[in-house]
Amino acid sequence: VPMERFRNFCIVAHVDHGKSTLSDRLLEITGTIKPGDNKQILDKLDVERERGITVKAQTCTMLYNYKGEDYLLHLVDTPGHVDFRAEVLSSYRSTDSALLLVDASQGVQGSSIANFYLAFAQGLHLLPVVNKVDLPSADPGRALDQMKTNFELDPNTAVLVSAKTGLNVESILPAVIEQAPPPTGSLANPLKMLLIDSWYDNYKGVILLVRIFDGVLKPGDQIINFATKKKYTVGEVGIMYPLETAVSSLRAGQVGYCYFNPGMKQTSEAKVGSTFCHVGFEDTVVPCEGFEEPQPMVFVGAFPVDHSEFAHLDDSIQQLVTNDRSVTLQKESSEALGQGWRLGFLGTLHASVFEDRLRQEHGASLIITSPTVPYKIIHRDGREEIISNPAFFPSGDHEFKQLERLEPYVLATITVPEEYLGKVIELCESNRGTQVEITFWTASQVILKYKLPLAQLVNDFFGKLKGISKGYASLDYEDAGYEKSDIVRLNLLVNKEPVDAISQVMHRSQVMRTGRQWVAKFKEFVQRELFEVVIQAAVGKQIVARETVKAVRKDVTAKLYGGDRTRRMKLLEKQKEGRKKLQAIGRVTIDQKSFQGFLQK
Ligand code: GDP
Ligand code: MG
Repeated sequence: VPMERFRNFCIVAHVDHGKSTLSDRLLEITGTIKPGDNKQILDKLDVERERGITVKAQTCTMLYNYKGEDYLLHLVDTPGHVDFRAEVLSSYRSTDSALLLVDASQGVQGSSIANFYLAFAQGLHLLPVVNKVDLPSADPGRALDQMKTNFELDPNTAVLVSAKTGLNVESILPAVIEQAPPPTGSLANPLKMLLIDSWYDNYKGVILLVRIFDGVLKPGDQIINFATKKKYTVGEVGIMYPLETAVSSLRAGQVGYCYFNPGMKQTSEAKVGSTFCHVGFEDTVVPCEGFEEPQPMVFVGAFPVDHSEFAHLDDSIQQLVTNDRSVTLQKESSEALGQGWRLGFLGTLHASVFEDRLRQEHGASLIITSPTVPYKIIHRDGREEIISNPAFFPSGDHEFKQLERLEPYVLATITVPEEYLGKVIELCESNRGTQVEITFWTASQVILKYKLPLAQLVNDFFGKLKGISKGYASLDYEDAGYEKSDIVRLNLLVNKEPVDAISQVMHRSQVMRTGRQWVAKFKEFVQRELFEVVIQAAVGKQIVARETVKAVRKDVTAKLYGGDRTRRMKLLEKQKEGRKKLQAIGRVTIDQKSFQGFLQK
């Protein structure tokens, strides 16, 4: 198949507008998968199937005969959630056109607009598609009008379909072929390829998903990574059809995979956005513009519920981290929870998806501490320190005099129908936001720009935003740097001893409320003891909340009637042993399950 008959495209849509369903249909039409089997082939991970969201962009090649000629079509499914923005961007970079998919019953929504701009900025050709025309509430005319006013797309070029019933889906590929441009590039030029994605395979090592811009890639080729200067020998090249299928070469314009021999060991060697060329052509080839690598925004501590599982869990976590280059990992130890790990994620959804995968694919049981963002401290001597573990945050006012405390901010862009504007502004203000800009986009849509502390954003801001706008608001954000802020560390104390697993950095305005919640909640998990237990929340030496658990007389032998001394001794011995398994804090015993309960609620 010559390059004029290649088409690389993706589907841009708001969440739930039917992107994955439509992808399945297209794979069926082209015979890439059998009808009815393997629903949502592109959502490979268990968590994706379960939650019905696409987390990792997956990709697939299809062969399609149109007017007697074979076409090589390449489809990339993209995630819709804001946590996975980096994945979205890299899928756009690997394609030349996009289907702009809109739900006929909902019309153009916030993230269609946000994602449209991303796609548009990447220079993609856009094809309007209206989906779900089978629904009684469908109003395709209105959707088309919106696409015209919002995006200046010609309604006459639009395709109206039902991905669910299959109605008119067969018109999509001909439209792609006729309207979307083939890739550009030259077979005669030296190899230039862009790394779009990578994943880890136990046998083959890291597998790279690449877009070839110029030249040809074959097994046995010596190639070099512009960024790292590391050299590799190509072992196998192929296309995703729908799974890895080897071919003899990948040519200019194609998207496919390759791996090396010997295999690449770490996905961290495969930074998305890196350019590769043949060894010896480093001075001839101009590398592609790089991507911004996603930085972790949210950190959590993770600990095994059962310590004997540590080694097993360590393996599982290492394995998952090797597969997802945007997760960072460090060992951590806590007085209360023992040995564990500190993990960095792109957002809270990313973190909970990771946790789910660990549970589903590795059968792991974990205690996860409250999420924290990376705070910054500038010492007197100018030394800067990023703090991703609250345990290392300075504790009191006397220490604060010696340094500056800063917290990370983001610039959030929220698109919302005007009727919810008031509530959204309220939400932003109550999350310590400052308004930067407000634009009335169309008759009904408003675009709000707010500067928000990242800590507020990761505290389920997206969920709350969805809640108050009945799902109509969308959110995108970018890094807005660090700013000085009165942030402090709130500690939980049990009989005056700090419980390190339950400490959190927050703005001073939040300590009273959080402190009261903590002590009330923790009280539920403390067993009544032979002595009084005092639970406090404190910032440095200042106590902000307190609860007391009254003493109780507890004696396991009480139910025995006098005499049998050996039996009594045995019971006491047993009780002692049981206690050893628990963590003693301020002479109070709290088992792992209680921590889990406290941290989960
Ligand atoms: P995505 O989030 O964009 O990938 O959306 P999905 O493909 O997961 O679809 C979201 C929901 O819409 C699912 O419950 C689908 O069954 C449903 N859906 C998708 N296409 C259609 C359609 O054409 N008609 C109807 N009625 N439902 C659809
Ligand atoms: Mg999907």
